[in-house]
Amino acid sequence: MPPIEPRAPIQVPLLDLKLQYEPLAAQIQSVIQQVCASQAFILGPAVKELEASVAAYSRCRFGLGVSSGTDALLLALMALEIGAGDAVITSPFTFFASAGTIARAGAVPVFCDIDPVTFNLSPVAVETFIARDCERREGGLFTRQGARIKAIMPVHLYGQLADMPALMEIAQRNGLRVIEDAAQAIGAEDSNGRRACSYGDVGCLSFFPTKNLGAFGDAGMCVANDPALVERMEVLRVHGGKPKYFHALIGGNFRLDELQAAILNVKLKYLDDWTRARQRNAAFYDRAFAQADLGRAVQTPPPAAGARHIYNQYILRARDRDLLRQHLTAQGVGSEIYYPVCLHQQKCFAYLGYRAGDFPESERAAEETLALPIFPELTEMQLQYVADTVAGFYRRA
Ligand SMILES: *Cc1c(COP(=O)(O)O)cnc(C)c1O
Repeated sequence: MPPIEPRAPIQVPLLDLKLQYEPLAAQIQSVIQQVCASQAFILGPAVKELEASVAAYSRCRFGLGVSSGTDALLLALMALEIGAGDAVITSPFTFFASAGTIARAGAVPVFCDIDPVTFNLSPVAVETFIARDCERREGGLFTRQGARIKAIMPVHLYGQLADMPALMEIAQRNGLRVIEDAAQAIGAEDSNGRRACSYGDVGCLSFFPTKNLGAFGDAGMCVANDPALVERMEVLRVHGGKPKYFHALIGGNFRLDELQAAILNVKLKYLDDWTRARQRNAAFYDRAFAQADLGRAVQTPPPAAGARHIYNQYILRARDRDLLRQHLTAQGVGSEIYYPVCLHQQKCFAYLGYRAGDFPESERAAEETLALPIFPELTEMQLQYVADTVAGFYRRA
């Protein structure tokens, strides 16, 4: 008789939002009822309150609630007048929206490779690209194909800041704007103690349910310091009408729902507690994998020396990643690949003319990385089980 695979003794989902909701259910239902009673659904007091508190949380002057993280990026690009004939430098190893919005704004996404340690846009790669592949004329920077480079869009992937001092220096020296894709990094800090969104012209946040501060649907925010730019984004958020029905600009409907804002106002108070729990879970894994002594089979995230990594994801670089993932699934452990295909290799971007091998570090990351469960409510028993299951895979192999 073949051996019967025993049923996994413990189930550990990648994320279980029900555990976060249960203790907050009464409070959240109460604010939902208040919005229902008011019947004020669009840009009401809850949106205003959230804008002020998320701006303060991100150490910026202004917040502007929008319909999603994707729309936050698109709105920032529109407000900075980035469109046809322009190009924006970003990472090829990120969620689709980073480059998708650049293309939807009518501009060209230009990719530069990542730093293999942090998985974030490499300032060295950007510098090399500018020196080798760009031309300077008419006081601007142009790609070989003739697009004018207007901005850099760094992404703070997995909850850790990109090297912003270096990227800001490159941007300033070349007259480029900076849009921070901070969808995964609300409240993250670098070792200078500066927060995500506090460096660039605009910081873009997402409140998609799986982000560290998640709404009950889609929601996002732009944060910024320049009042004129914020006013432009505010007008573009309502189709560019100011006063209403008089349009000097072509905007869109990028509004944040009052209901979502009311829910987020409740949840924001708990964000620091959740972050601490994520950090505690990450430290548990770091210790467990070090103790398991797996040699070079797995690499844990880089130690966040003096920085505040908020661990939207806990990412392993793992040998035989796909087989490890199958093993974890069979043993009841959820995991995910963020992201299996780099953006320069997506079908929709074939027209950009990139080839496999253009960004070796991004391509290697797409093959080697795996996200493990890291959500705040995980128990020690679950964390230990995940670590043991990973270690068990390599011992067996
Ligand atoms: C989630 C995410 C977005 C998009 O946010 P949505 O709210 O889902 O539109 C953009 N960029 C990155 C890096 C993300 O992780």
